[in-house]
Amino acid sequence: MAKGGQPIIIVDPRKEQTKGRDALGMNIAAAKAVASIVKSTLGPRGMDKMLVNPLGDVTITNDGATILHDMSIEHPTAKMVVEVAQSLESSAGDGTTSSVVFTGALLEKAEDLIEKGVHPTTVVKGYRFAAEKAVEILEDLAVPVGVEDRELLVKVAETSVTGKASEKYRRLVAELSVNAVLAVRERGKVDLKHVIISKDIGGRIDDTEFVEGIVIDKVSLERNFPSRIENPRIAIIDAPMETGKTATKAKLQINTVSEIEKFVKEEEAALFEIADYVIRAGANAVFCSKGMDDKIADYLQSRGIYATRRVKAEDLQRIVEATGGRPVRNIKELTQKELGNAGLLEQDRDGDQGKTYLRDCKGAKSVSIVIRGGTEHVVDNVERALDDALKVVKCVVEDGKIVAGGGATEIEVALGLRSFASSIGGREQMAIGAFAEAIEEVPRTIARNAGLDTIDSILNLRAKHAEDKNAGLNILTGAAEDMFGKGVVDPLRVKVNTIKAGSEAAVMVLRVDDVLRAQRRDIQDVKPEHMASTYDGMSAPLLNTRR
Ligand code: ADP
Ligand code: MG
Repeated sequence: MAKGGQPIIIVDPRKEQTKGRDALGMNIAAAKAVASIVKSTLGPRGMDKMLVNPLGDVTITNDGATILHDMSIEHPTAKMVVEVAQSLESSAGDGTTSSVVFTGALLEKAEDLIEKGVHPTTVVKGYRFAAEKAVEILEDLAVPVGVEDRELLVKVAETSVTGKASEKYRRLVAELSVNAVLAVRERGKVDLKHVIISKDIGGRIDDTEFVEGIVIDKVSLERNFPSRIENPRIAIIDAPMETGKTATKAKLQINTVSEIEKFVKEEEAALFEIADYVIRAGANAVFCSKGMDDKIADYLQSRGIYATRRVKAEDLQRIVEATGGRPVRNIKELTQKELGNAGLLEQDRDGDQGKTYLRDCKGAKSVSIVIRGGTEHVVDNVERALDDALKVVKCVVEDGKIVAGGGATEIEVALGLRSFASSIGGREQMAIGAFAEAIEEVPRTIARNAGLDTIDSILNLRAKHAEDKNAGLNILTGAAEDMFGKGVVDPLRVKVNTIKAGSEAAVMVLRVDDVLRAQRRDIQDVKPEHMASTYDGMSAPLLNTRR
């Protein structure tokens, strides 16, 4: 720790050093640069970014988290800001762009204060105060919502995907995510691991479906096998179903025709022995995680037993969970007791490819969503939207609290903080005031991106808040309107995390007063996970450069 309890970043003290104001100015510039990149994507009228990876693959998105993830950012400070925002994405699933925009605004205001002679430590103290108070204000604003309030849950999901998914499938994505979250909810908690998303390129978006049960990307090895088995008894084999004899490199000395015949017979006998264990156990469907000899598959299928091989480990695990079966590693141990059950096995095949559904599973902890769409681009966009929607619905189902969106909470927090600041006095008051300004940057940006006048919009909102705490921005007219009435609602957790993460990132940047940097040639042995410090150009932030 250096003077005043401020941390310094030590990379290699023998080398270059950027101190005090220079270091701060440089770091603030880097963080602001990140904010300026994602700013134009914020809100329902945000623009898209076209991301091109080194292979030339194109992604078009306005999802802040995706953009920040796919841009390879080299500047250590910029990286730090992005990492804080990404932790938000993983915990709440939304609010990434807002938090980065907020961080940028906090740092811009901090710069002004420091210019005026306020010490960074005072700014940090004021920001921390303000963040705590802001969370209190948010919690007071929150409205309870129960799982029986399905329509409101759908609205939360719709709000989170507004501007991401096209209007046409916004409702569909929202409904699917609510169905899925409610189906996997267990004792008030939601584990999204149990929502399996599979993609089917070539279909129509409207045929995207929710399946109570599981879907795997496999079909029976035999093409003409029936497409349905009712009440299947399912064997789950986690071992190869082959003899392995001919696959080995051992030399076989075979001299006569009869010897060949004998060898083939022996091998067949060994294969059928494997198949017979399945038949004796009473199974009529086999999911094998490893290879399965074609002869075994033929033998099984000719006896009405569905058989498929090389099922992925995670799919096998899901089959286990959903059907209540037990995976068997030694085929000889397979008995009726190990078999799983489902209401229906159904396959939807297209040549040798397709999907197998296990529906109406009694023990189903998992549900599936099959996204269909004409092109990979469409399917990927729906997947990203669905991912966001699932996370926000999870937040609301777990916490049971929502707040008004469209900038309503930000305005209310700013108003609350301004009156709080006047009760504090001193220089910290200035920092709290700056915090209030900074949080208003979120509704201001939503307004700007919607082509509205930012000053009028903010003034309208502030005025309306005297009577309605939930007034947010009508992006079509610029008027301040009740957001609950319009169904624009966000999870409380998202808003709380946005404030926390946004201010945490700003404070982190403000507390650094020294950057010590090693030369590249000295850090060849550094492990890749420590490579943030290999950035080799302190003067200007190096953004959007690809390795
Ligand atoms: P983030 O990454 O921060 O979630 P978004 O681009 O998703 O960024 O924008 C989220 C903001 O847009 C939230 O403040 C949300 O309340 C607001 N919003 C969403 N839908 C609407 C709408 N129909 N009208 C006004 N604001 C909206
Ligand atoms: Mg969002």
